[in-house]
Amino acid sequence: MYEMCAGHEEHGGVLVWHVMAKRSSETLCGRTLIRAVDAASAERAGHCAACMASFMKLMTAPPDAESPAVTPR
Ligand SMILES: [Zn+2]
Repeated sequence: MYEMCAGHEEHGGVLVWHVMAKRSSETLCGRTLIRAVDAASAERAGHCAACMASFMKLMTAPPDAESPAVTPR
């Protein structure tokens, strides 16, 4: 499972939702989120484009070619 985490896109940048990498404290776009953001601004935040792109790749690429998660019918 992947965890979403709100954080700034860059220092002083816009607030976005990042996707945390598995078993890592880094986001999929390679960021380490240190500061917690307040819930009100997180609610209005968009999604980190870099994280979304990596996330889509992870979702479409089977983790193990010998045991596909989805069996074609
Ligand atoms: Zn990100």
